Amino acid sequence: MSFTTKNTENRVRVCFDCREFHRINVSDYKTKESLHTFELKHQGHRTQVIDAKVLAEILPYSQQGLKVW
Ligand SMILES: [Zn+2]
Repeated sequence: MSFTTKNTENRVRVCFDCREFHRINVSDYKTKESLHTFELKHQGHRTQVIDAKVLAEILPYSQQGLKVW
């Protein structure tokens, strides 16, 4: 794994089953807690950490219906 992840502030965890995503740049306690809730909720689902810039390319059909955490 030689993947460079210096741009972590633009990374999101996305659930393809629920079409929801959550920012993973957790700097404050409240966001960190909601990310934990998100991961618990989507356990067993098809989730992936991606760059926010490619979110629109991966889920172009569901941009309107995406739930933002
Ligand atoms: Zn899910």
